[in-house]
Amino acid sequence: MQDQLDKVRVVLVETQHPGNIGAAARAMKTMGLARLYLVNPRQFPSDEAEARASGATEVLAEARIVGSLREAVAECTLVAGASARPRKLAWPELDPRQCGETVMAASGECALVFGRERTGLTNAELDLCTHVVTIPANPDYASLNLAAAVQVLSYELRVAALAGHRPVREPEAPPATHEQLEQLYAHLQRVLADRGFLNPDNPEHLMRRLRRLYNRAGLDHNEVQILRGILTTLAPDIR
Ligand code: SAH
Repeated sequence: MQDQLDKVRVVLVETQHPGNIGAAARAMKTMGLARLYLVNPRQFPSDEAEARASGATEVLAEARIVGSLREAVAECTLVAGASARPRKLAWPELDPRQCGETVMAASGECALVFGRERTGLTNAELDLCTHVVTIPANPDYASLNLAAAVQVLSYELRVAALAGHRPVREPEAPPATHEQLEQLYAHLQRVLADRGFLNPDNPEHLMRRLRRLYNRAGLDHNEVQILRGILTTLAPDIR
């Protein structure tokens, strides 16, 4: 079971209060998670984080500090963004239980991504996620403390792992990583923009729909190569 939990990284984006980083580390350790990624934390390392981590200081000691969300999830095949607010044109939306089961059933590296205390995750950051997970909370007061949200989703991962959820079988080809998909989307966007298919004033709109479409398909490594090959053949001048 531990190897199943070890494939999961918890990513905290631009956390403002170091105490929340410590409390998140503690929440993770209680559920058997160990891999913490911090995207541009305001203050870290910090005594307050250490104090709030209680006995989970090794999770902090081994935390990776990175400069962008994209870097934090580059090798991942599943990226679930935690958001209190439901979005328009939502990504496949999961509740915490489905999130635990979906992550445990995924092959490859997985990430749970949490936003800033005040403003959460931006739409551009949610674009980098394959799923959105919302904790069903009081609609008049739906925003949990960051570390409390980490606790709820980590708990559900553990429950799913204990129940034996795991990848059913090895896929034919490895699933595409986040970075491979980002390169495909960038290539597609260049070709579509150059050929006048994208609205130059709002290219994001169509690109978001295309991301959603490809996400649903669950592309593997070979399929990404095929799609990029098609683009290169049809538009050899654009790489
Ligand atoms: N005011 C922010 C919420 C920030 S809370 C907003 O409206 O988006 C900090 C982070 O905790 C959020 O970005 C999210 O990742 C997580 N979180 C808090 N409440 C949540 C909920 N009900 N469901 C899912 N994630 C939640």
